[in-house]
Amino acid sequence: MNADGTVPFVDLRAQYDAIRDDVRAAMDQVLERGDFILGGSVTAFEDAFARYTGRRYAVGLDSGLSGIELGLRALGIGPGDEVVTAANSFIASALPLTYLGATPVLVDADPVSWNLDVEQLETVITPRTKAILPVHLYGRTADMNAVRAVAERHGLIVFEDACQAHGARYRGEPAGSLGHGAAFSFYPAKNLGAFGDAGAFVSDDEDAVERVRMLRNYGSRVKYQHELPGMNRRLDTLQAAVLLVKLTHLDAWNDARRRHAARYDELLADTGLGLPAPAPEGEHVHHLYVVRSDDRDSLREHLAHQGVATGIHYPVPIHLQPAYRSLGYRPGDFPVAERLADEILSLPMYPELPADAIERVADVVRSFQPARSSAASMGD
Ligand SMILES: *Cc1c(COP(=O)(O)O)cnc(C)c1O
Repeated sequence: MNADGTVPFVDLRAQYDAIRDDVRAAMDQVLERGDFILGGSVTAFEDAFARYTGRRYAVGLDSGLSGIELGLRALGIGPGDEVVTAANSFIASALPLTYLGATPVLVDADPVSWNLDVEQLETVITPRTKAILPVHLYGRTADMNAVRAVAERHGLIVFEDACQAHGARYRGEPAGSLGHGAAFSFYPAKNLGAFGDAGAFVSDDEDAVERVRMLRNYGSRVKYQHELPGMNRRLDTLQAAVLLVKLTHLDAWNDARRRHAARYDELLADTGLGLPAPAPEGEHVHHLYVVRSDDRDSLREHLAHQGVATGIHYPVPIHLQPAYRSLGYRPGDFPVAERLADEILSLPMYPELPADAIERVADVVRSFQPARSSAASMGD
């Protein structure tokens, strides 16, 4: 919380202050070595992150979006294929499918977990379906046993969008290890964030990993020998050095996020807001703490007036984005996702969030006089 009682949505400065000396020393070593492109810290981070996610390999990339795109391409997804994903995600879950010439096929959100509704998977599978792309939304793993059962029945690839779920677990297994491959984003505000854009692909599939390594680097294994029409999607050595330092703090930061979420749960229990459902299947890492209100816009304005910053993740579901008009979806196709888009509100959440800031947010929520009842009943 700031001195004037305002609460920011995230506070990257607070995290920097906590790791300043280590991260500066690590960056300085890169500057001294000058190995800026695919340098030693990239390999070191890839090894550490593969271990962290319970995978044989990690490949450092320039973004989470590249992780999805190059990973799926390396696993054989291409023109004409259909890939099933959630209507209520960030658009970067779907865009890479479009780049590959594949078609995003969307399913609605589950009204309780807010992750993709696994009941709908079977209803959208066609002979062209090649993969399921579950999103571990807000840091809670999707219902992976159900996803994997459907995938096995139909011979589909399972690819995790783990861009919000660094360190999350599903029945003890780490996010990233729950399918054939997974993508992570290290966008600065993610649970593990770089000082700019960065991402990774993780997998046990040696051939796919080798292809992603080539695709990120002009399609070459050996300099000036180009086996594939690749791209430049490499993780910067400087970012890898930052991520290596931050990875050692990730579990503690996720623990702090869980404590903050539990405190919000307690303080907001009797406010009539829809709170995140318990996630008994695993360890939620609360990338975001999202509540529901049927008077969301007024509540958001009230919070803003009192200096509490909030976000909406996301205000427009993928099927109603202008960029995806060509998919032919219409309002009403995914009623749960559409209702969530109108009701969700992300409260301040970051590891360094002070206890008194959580109290302040709850007090301000409590002082809100809704125009209508804000009792949220969906999924009850
Ligand atoms: C952040 C994010 C991405 C994309 O990651 P970038 O690193 O920004 O490209 C993809 N999917 C989800 C669910 C995300 O939250």
